[in-house]
Amino acid sequence: MILIKSASTLSLYLSDQKNKGLITGFIPTMGALHEGHISLINHSLQRDDIVISSIFINPTQFNDEKDFRQYPVTLNQDILLLEKAGCQVLFLPPIEEIYPDGISYNTHFELGYLGTILEGAYRPGHFQGVCQVMERLLKIVMPDHLYLGQKDYQQCKIITQLINQLGLEDKTKVHICPTLREPDGLAMSSRNRRINKEVRKNADGLYIALTHIKNNLKPGSMKTVFNEARSILDAKGFDIDYLSVADAGDLEILKDFRDGRILVALAAATFNEVRLIDNMLLSTD
Ligand code: AMP
Repeated sequence: MILIKSASTLSLYLSDQKNKGLITGFIPTMGALHEGHISLINHSLQRDDIVISSIFINPTQFNDEKDFRQYPVTLNQDILLLEKAGCQVLFLPPIEEIYPDGISYNTHFELGYLGTILEGAYRPGHFQGVCQVMERLLKIVMPDHLYLGQKDYQQCKIITQLINQLGLEDKTKVHICPTLREPDGLAMSSRNRRINKEVRKNADGLYIALTHIKNNLKPGSMKTVFNEARSILDAKGFDIDYLSVADAGDLEILKDFRDGRILVALAAATFNEVRLIDNMLLSTD
């Protein structure tokens, strides 16, 4: 695996490869890698000639300074995992390579409705930060394929919208890959490392609550099923930010369930001081 820290070196290297007709796949990450990240690498390996990953803990997407400071860093282990998985290029930029003018001179993106709901409502500025880093990374890497995890469902929508806004939709195709889970259903996440071992057994609450919604949704009002799902989360010690059902396409938040639409249940809640998010497709999962 080649490790590159400079944006211009990476762009130059990749344009050489593309001139040879090689197809590139890109997996951006913030490190503290787990099997979920590696599954994205594996998706790319199946389709692309060159698999590029990046590790950059993007300060502008943290609306909570403490969350940023506590974000796990496991770089040596990450490098070993990526190498073992068969990733060919790792982009490891220092902050100046991503924000050459400093983080206070960033572009503001029009996120529209998608920026106002769910994570957008609970984490002000978060998606601006996501778009800032993704715009820069996309322009440096210019991948043929971009691999994102369904785990961050709304982020997938925001980044797809960004790619359209940047006019890159013919250049970069987005692939949304399934969420990898622990055996008890907890979605794998870098933040899971911060959950205390003594309470870890209750961290399956989000998965159980989402599964409950999926299995018990009936046409009509969703009030009862929401109340039951909320009770599951309460009993497991979760402090809920949101628990919603939305149209899987445009993320319109729905109060009543009607057949004929593909729906997704999305949730965010704090467990043992760790904020977790998860989602589940209700019709095709
Ligand atoms: P992060 O390092 O958390 O920014 O995540 C980098 C990429 O990995 C994003 O596209 C995430 O959606 C994806 N990802 C994170 N967790 C999982 C998971 N459990 N399964 C599949 N993909 C994931």
